[in-house]
Amino acid sequence: MSDGAEPPNVDELTPPNRTLMGPGPSDVDPRVLRAMSTPLVGHLDPSFIDVMNDVQELLRYTFRTDNKWTIPVSGTGSAAMEAAIGNLVEPGDTMLVPTNGYFGGRMADMAQRAGGDIVEVHAPWGEPLDPTDVAAAFDEHDIDVFGFIHAETSTGVVQPAVPELTSIAHESDALVIADTVTSIGGVELRVDEWDIDVAYAGPQKCLSCPPGASPLTLNDAAMEKVLNRAEDARSWYLDLSLLEGYWGEERAYHHTAPITNVYALREALRLVAEEGIEERWARHRRVAGALKAGFQAMGLEMNASDEYWLPSLNAVRVPDGVDDGAVIDYLLEAYDLEIASGLGDLEGEIWRIGCMGHSANPKNVAYVLSALGDALDRQGADIDSEAAIPAMHDALGDD
Ligand code: PLP
Repeated sequence: MSDGAEPPNVDELTPPNRTLMGPGPSDVDPRVLRAMSTPLVGHLDPSFIDVMNDVQELLRYTFRTDNKWTIPVSGTGSAAMEAAIGNLVEPGDTMLVPTNGYFGGRMADMAQRAGGDIVEVHAPWGEPLDPTDVAAAFDEHDIDVFGFIHAETSTGVVQPAVPELTSIAHESDALVIADTVTSIGGVELRVDEWDIDVAYAGPQKCLSCPPGASPLTLNDAAMEKVLNRAEDARSWYLDLSLLEGYWGEERAYHHTAPITNVYALREALRLVAEEGIEERWARHRRVAGALKAGFQAMGLEMNASDEYWLPSLNAVRVPDGVDDGAVIDYLLEAYDLEIASGLGDLEGEIWRIGCMGHSANPKNVAYVLSALGDALDRQGADIDSEAAIPAMHDALGDD
């Protein structure tokens, strides 16, 4: 313990060089890291105003929206989430939230803190919401805001039939908030075409950008509600009517933007635009499809059925008799490879293996399959580790 008299002797930072195949963050393209080491300017510098415009334009492209109110929120995905919920939900409002994964619970928590009441729509962990159940909830309750998780990172399930869900909500004049943290830039997402009123996201998953500035988009109907609230939003920092001053036409100081993170996001989004959003979705399906084929050839079971499988997050069931934590530790120590355990209801039952953004490439897939095969063989698991790589090549159509 230092008594404060001597400066602490702390070594230079030398983080391990991991391969990030967990639920995020994913590996970052060197171009993004280079953008982060470019000179700092002020958050109102004319050159930074241009950067802000670029980021907003690139975010609109990536969200597939023309929404004017499209910004990076300072903070992680949860900040964009709280900005969406905390501004849309007024005290006394009712929000419909899903129970089919970990992040629906966080939505409920945030809505309650905003002064809202909660109604739940149920589905098992590992399945998407059924539109019939959503319609039944709307028949039974007076709902103001409906939130759903487009890509549930805790279960590896993608929510299909989004336009069906949004039209049910709109028939009752409710606004729809979509959690697109694990889908943006990796899984088909069409904010305007699917009539989503508000979508929030994270940069550290399929956009392969370090956390710190998180995408958010609102259409005019949502923003009208935000600007006409009877009471101010409870968070000053995330009050969108105030943030409008900075990200809107005025460009007036609200808080000091995380400039370096905005640079990073700009470069990450430039990479999306260069690849083409549809091509990027197709790459995630193709590469993650090969990962899934490898797991299945080994004899592992996916948590989600093929119909609802989420390419960016592969939830793989832990085989009987295998210690999930020991496998995770071994991969980190022996291979510098990060995967993650299950969350909430699925703790101890699945591994969560991401295939996101820059990490979604055949080399990483081969690395995960061979390293996991080794880890499972060492535990004496009843699997066929040698079948994985040929199945991966087959799925990729390699010669
Ligand atoms: N929503 C989903 C679906 C997520 O996967 C996450 C993070 O993993 C969040 C919200 C919260 O994002 P963050 O951890 O960046 O605050």
